[in-house]
Amino acid sequence: MQAWVVDQPGPVDDERHPLVRVERPVPEPGPGEVRVRVRTCGVCRTDLHLTEGDLVPRRPRVTPGHEVVGVVDRLGSGSTRWREGDRIGVPWLAHTCGICRFCVSGRENLCLRPRFTGWDVDGGYAAYTVVDEAYAYALPEAFDDVEAAPLLCAGIIGYRALLRANLPEGGRLGIYGFGGSAHLTAQVALARGARVHVMTRSPEAQRLALELGVASVGDADAAPPEPLDSAILFAPVGTLVPPALAALDRGGTLAVAGIYLSDIPALNYQEHLFEERALQSVTANTRRDGEEFLAEAARIGLRVSAVPYPMDRADTALRDLRDDRVNGAAVLVI
Ligand SMILES: [Zn+2]
Ligand SMILES: [Zn+2]
Repeated sequence: MQAWVVDQPGPVDDERHPLVRVERPVPEPGPGEVRVRVRTCGVCRTDLHLTEGDLVPRRPRVTPGHEVVGVVDRLGSGSTRWREGDRIGVPWLAHTCGICRFCVSGRENLCLRPRFTGWDVDGGYAAYTVVDEAYAYALPEAFDDVEAAPLLCAGIIGYRALLRANLPEGGRLGIYGFGGSAHLTAQVALARGARVHVMTRSPEAQRLALELGVASVGDADAAPPEPLDSAILFAPVGTLVPPALAALDRGGTLAVAGIYLSDIPALNYQEHLFEERALQSVTANTRRDGEEFLAEAARIGLRVSAVPYPMDRADTALRDLRDDRVNGAAVLVI
C-alpha cells in the first residue's frame, strides 16, 4: 500500500519536504486490534510539529495522522467490539497502560506509558491502519467522512481545553488563534451560551468566526472588548501567553491547547498571574472526553469547515498549514 512517512524531520520549505511517500505491506491487526481501510484523515498541527522535528519522533519513519475515518475490514484475534464494515474513527490516544496511578484514577490522558497514533504507532496517512479496538470511536451519522475527521483530534482536544479553561455558565471566552480546532470549540462554547471573542491575524479566519456567531474579532494579540472568564490559546505561539493572561478577569483561566508551544516570555506576577489568574496546559484526552464531545457535536449540529486534499498531496496540505493557508481543517481524502 501507499503510505507517507516522516523521513528525516526538519523544516518544511520549498525545496525540501521531510514527509515522503513509500510502498509498505498492508498491516495485519494483532490481538484486540482491528484493521481500518482509510477513507479520510485530518491534518493536525501536531503532524507538522512532528515532521519539522519540534516533536521528537518516537518511532523511525512513522506514518503520521491521528484523525482517521475508515471502515473496519479485518478483525484481529479476540476482537469483539466492531464488525467488518463498521465506520469508525481512529484518534490520537492509541493506548494507555490501564494500571498506573493516573489510569486508575480516571486520568488516562496523563498515563505514564501511553501510545499515540501517528507518533508511537503508524497513523492514517496511508491506505490502511490498525487500531486497538478499545480506543476507536463510533462516529455520529450526521457527519460525513470529511467532516468527521477533524472531530477526532481538533474537536476532542479543543473540547478538553474548553473544560480545562473552566468557562462558567454564560461566561466570556477568549480564543487565540482560529484554525481547525478553535472553530469547533467556539461552536460548543456558543451553544453553551458563552460570549466568545476571537483573536487572530487571518482575515479569512476572522470572517469564519463572525459567521459562526462570535461577539467580536480582533488581531492576534489585541485586547478583547471585555475582561475574560476563560481563554484558550490555540496558536502555538508563546508570546501570546502574556497578553492572553492580561486579558483575564480576576479568577480567570488561560488553557493552552497545543502539544507544542514556542517559548513563553517572562511573566510579570502582578500583571499576569496575581488575583488568582491561572495558566493551565492540556495533555491529550480521556476516552470519555471523546465520547462526550462526539455526542455534543451531533446534538448541537456542529458545522465543520474542512478543506479536502487528495491523500497523495499530504505534503502540500502540511505546507499550506505551515503557511496559514487553510481556513478550517485540512482533510486528506482517498
Ligand atoms: Zn496508565
Ligand atoms: Zn492532533
